[in-house]
Amino acid sequence: MSVTSFHDQPKASVAVRLGRAAGTVFHRIEPFWSGPRSWPPYLRLEQRFTAVRFLGVLCIALTAPLLIPSLDRLIMAYVALFVAAFYVTWVQVLIRRHSPLLEHGYVTTIGDAFFCVLFVLIGGGFNTAFYFIVFTATVCSAMRFGYGPSMLVVGLYITLDALDHSVRSANFTDEQGVFLFRSGFLVITTLSASYVREQAQRAEAALARQLNRASALNESTRALNASLKLDTVVQTVVTEARRLIHGEEAAIQLGSEYGSATAYDASGYDGLSGDTRQQRRLDMLALIPNIEYRTRNTGKFKGRVAQDNREYIVVSLLGLGGVVGHVVVVRPAGRPPLESADDDLLISFIARAVLAIENAALYKTIGDRRHDLQRAYADLASAHQELLDVDEMKTNFIANVSHELRTPLTSIRSFSEILLSFDVDTATQHEFVGIINAESERLTRLVNDVLDITKIESGQVDWHMENLDLGEIMYASARAFEALAKEKGLHFELVPMSSPLHVYADSDRIRQVLANLLGNAIKFTPQGSVTLSAEMHADMVYVHIADTGIGIAPSNQERIFEKFHQVGDTLTDKPAGTGLGLCICRDIVVHHGGRIWVESELGQGSVFTFTLLPTVHDDGVPITRLSDDPSLSPTRGGAGATA
Ligand code: ADP
Repeated sequence: MSVTSFHDQPKASVAVRLGRAAGTVFHRIEPFWSGPRSWPPYLRLEQRFTAVRFLGVLCIALTAPLLIPSLDRLIMAYVALFVAAFYVTWVQVLIRRHSPLLEHGYVTTIGDAFFCVLFVLIGGGFNTAFYFIVFTATVCSAMRFGYGPSMLVVGLYITLDALDHSVRSANFTDEQGVFLFRSGFLVITTLSASYVREQAQRAEAALARQLNRASALNESTRALNASLKLDTVVQTVVTEARRLIHGEEAAIQLGSEYGSATAYDASGYDGLSGDTRQQRRLDMLALIPNIEYRTRNTGKFKGRVAQDNREYIVVSLLGLGGVVGHVVVVRPAGRPPLESADDDLLISFIARAVLAIENAALYKTIGDRRHDLQRAYADLASAHQELLDVDEMKTNFIANVSHELRTPLTSIRSFSEILLSFDVDTATQHEFVGIINAESERLTRLVNDVLDITKIESGQVDWHMENLDLGEIMYASARAFEALAKEKGLHFELVPMSSPLHVYADSDRIRQVLANLLGNAIKFTPQGSVTLSAEMHADMVYVHIADTGIGIAPSNQERIFEKFHQVGDTLTDKPAGTGLGLCICRDIVVHHGGRIWVESELGQGSVFTFTLLPTVHDDGVPITRLSDDPSLSPTRGGAGATA
């Protein structure tokens, strides 16, 4: 590793050191030469002229004895120099005070001219070396005022020169050549100084315009970056594009990859209604296909077209994959044509705008993806939870089924063992065989119910959907249960329908639902009645099974539709069912597009209701409304059974 100490640094060459020293000196002198930078330009110029004035006074003071042979005029010259020094000091004081007297430069120009002429006259006239003072004064006025005023000053000096000669010289014509020569050079020098001034001013103005453009571009770019919302960015693009080239209105149209976003800006016309703005936007955008492409460095600058006395400038937005949209800016008639720098400014801005639009679109896509991912994650989580629930339900179901199977099987085995092992009398044998038979029936019911529920829930059931007369099915079910109710001493009623009801359903499955609900109603009603009825209400068919039985507590009214849920102590007070019936009913009804529920009060009875969709005619009217034929329903006219 090499270490370079401070002393090892190569020594700067003499030229470099001299340059640095000169720079330091200039830096020190600069405030005296042109004043601080905070001063307005006219004061700094005056300060420079004052420095020149001081040098002039010094120069005359040193050279006067060599140039003026007569003592009288030499004394006059020094008196004049004293007054001139006083004048220069006074101007310096005015500068320090930022006096408005100096603002236009007229006062000092007249003062300078006065002293120039004074020194020329004291020094022996225009034909002496003092004439060179005049050059300084004219160059100063050319630098300050330009061609016109400086030529006036030149004219004044030439006139004075001519007068001086006519007074001093007896033979002016002899010196005519010299007079013309120096006057000509005075004019040339003044014109050259004016030209330099004009060029400097132009360069300064161009620089100022360029700076303005750069800062306008910066400002517009900052506005673009203020948001990542696509709509806001698009609106900013159109507003800033209009502002940058001082347009009246502007519109933008993006391609379908950016959702065909569009925007319009017309800050020039604040009072435009929404409809007019919309129409203006469409009119402007309609011009796009009519304009010829003109390729520029940074993109496709489509060009301009004049219409309605206005200039329409169209710029294409070039993305990675080609043109992604267009911006149209309108300039009013009568404005000077845009400089090429303004075109470049607009194109540079549009290039930045494309980036901002692409960023905003990307941001939106990322946001959408994030939402999609979040949603997918939530769906997955809930699907996972559902799977866990299903798994738990399956385990519970298997446990319940095994438990339910074991009870009747234990009974059957015990009683059959007793019958086989012991010599029991005929009456006991009869009783035991009866128990075995009942338990076998319960076992069969259970296995049937389990098979039913598994088939329905795994989608293995063949549904035979058809148009059914609900009255017929209800009638048949009523007939089947009427005897059972009668046996128990219950009143059974099938309420006649006011009009036939047709449903689109699987006949066997609806019979199964009715059988289950009617069976339960009779089973859980010690005394009173069981009523079966149906009605059409709000385009749904409602079937009610009401009883005056033991009723169901509110806390159980939902749960009895779950698998194996039975009310009461299922160990000691086991009802003779499987606890699967209502669950099967619910699955069947839901498959038909309906629902099932119970309204009940403990000790007062229950009303089970399920709904079915009526058969719909081609014109959307339920078929039940169209039919007036009473013969369609056997329940019409009170054919229902009552017990
Ligand atoms: P089960 O085969 O035990 O009848 P269900 O699923 O059909 O099974 O019924 C579940 C439970 O709902 C019954 O055990 C009973 O407790 C209650 N239940 C059903 N219908 C009625 C009713 N009409 N009145 C009172 N309780 C009822």
